[in-house]
Amino acid sequence: MPWQSPISPGISWYEATVLERPDYPALAGSCKTDVAIIGGGYTGLQAAYNLAKNGTDVALIDACRFGDGASGRNGGQFGTGQRAWADEAEEALGHERAKLLFEMAENAKRYVLDFTGEHGIDIEFVPGQLSVSHKQSLEKYYRRHVEAMAERFGYPHLSFMERDETASRLGSHHYQFGIRDTGTGHIHPMKLLVGLAKQASRAGAKLHEHTKALKIEKKGGAIVIDTDRGTITADRALIACNAHIGNLEPVTASHVMPIRSFIGATKVLSGHPNVLPGGESVDDSRFVVRYFRKSKDGRLLFGGREAYTADNPRDISSHIRRQISEIYPALANIEITHAWGGSVGITMPRQPFCREVMPGVTSIGGYSGHGVMLSNYCGKLYADLALGKTTELDLLKALKIPAFPGGMRFRSALLFLALSWYALRDRV
Ligand SMILES: Cc1cc2nc3c(=O)[nH]c(=O)nc-3n(C[C@H](O)[C@H](O)[C@H](O)COP(=O)(O)OP(=O)(O)OC[C@H]3O[C@@H](n4cnc5c(N)ncnc54)[C@H](O)[C@@H]3O)c2cc1C
Repeated sequence: MPWQSPISPGISWYEATVLERPDYPALAGSCKTDVAIIGGGYTGLQAAYNLAKNGTDVALIDACRFGDGASGRNGGQFGTGQRAWADEAEEALGHERAKLLFEMAENAKRYVLDFTGEHGIDIEFVPGQLSVSHKQSLEKYYRRHVEAMAERFGYPHLSFMERDETASRLGSHHYQFGIRDTGTGHIHPMKLLVGLAKQASRAGAKLHEHTKALKIEKKGGAIVIDTDRGTITADRALIACNAHIGNLEPVTASHVMPIRSFIGATKVLSGHPNVLPGGESVDDSRFVVRYFRKSKDGRLLFGGREAYTADNPRDISSHIRRQISEIYPALANIEITHAWGGSVGITMPRQPFCREVMPGVTSIGGYSGHGVMLSNYCGKLYADLALGKTTELDLLKALKIPAFPGGMRFRSALLFLALSWYALRDRV
């Protein structure tokens, strides 16, 4: 029987094609360690790998299986820079900080490729990304972005695509224009996750699945984490629960909230050579962003629909198929073989959240749909920090991330209203 994540709906195409997904034992009784990590996605596992590799005693727990959160189920797109375009960040933060944040993201991209290259983890990297616009009014903004990236951010890999080039690269006339990025690409997320967990285990990290942290507190100079399988006592801890933080730690919960995004994989496309002939991944300008690409075996992996409540939609496939048919009418009746969803951790300004939430306890998450490369790198940077180095995490710590309004009782309802309003604007 395939494993169904208890926290994310559907069995993903990634799980079906990962070949092996080793099990890790639950924590058996109480233990002491130098560093405790809660959450076995990219952030937590990278921290565990880099700490163990440097001789630190580290224990990592996950309430479910590694990759059951966003890291095993995402769109696989690296993107470039942070979630906000660098020239937008420039307006808000000034050129120097925006450039440092951009360079951090470039370091993240290199880090993931170097890490997987060094360990022979085949993440099926395919180069190329197209960012396309569904609104004519954005043309000036797109053109300016290409120029700013080359001139002020030293990134020469973007080019503006006119309507014809956009149509031929997509195999669709749905979008008006776009930007081509030859300096990034997309991957098989679960292959990265599984390869990373193996490396962390090999380096000596104690990895435990099916072990839920129930409470974290500071007691007599130590960090004490109560779990449903025993207690972990540590000198310091990392909270890497992202959108799944729940009630575990209130500061993180008030700054990182979940929205749900859904993906469908079609059967292998045959007879449609015009669909993404260059193999790039695509994201569009809608607030409820549509993101798609072809898999290595020739399927269309299409992400789009979002939900702002915890309920699982009864039928992910037909909604995704409808969105596919708007862009590719010839695929209106295409079979969707796998449909799944996951929770994206977002913050108010869509910038990552990184904070010491109690002495010795750091929380990192809320990459806002842009965490494939950043979460890996932030996990590595957390390890550097714990080993006493100065790191680029200081850049994230300095960002002013406000809490979501509404307090514990009302913030979900307010988020639902706000996001639904923005989603409506996609239709005008
Ligand atoms: C559908 C979807 C599409 C996406 N597409 C993209 C994309 O194309 N590009 C991109 O850059 N980003 C994308 N993202 C976002 C990206 O996947 C995430 O930013 C990244 O994976 C975050 O990794 P993480 O390790 O911080 O969190 P997660 O991978 O979410 O891991 C958190 C883990 O914490 C565990 N946990 C939570 N609470 C507890 C507890 N109390 N005790 C123990 N364990 C606990 C959970 O079980 C989970 O395994 C997407 C996300 C989704 C859901």
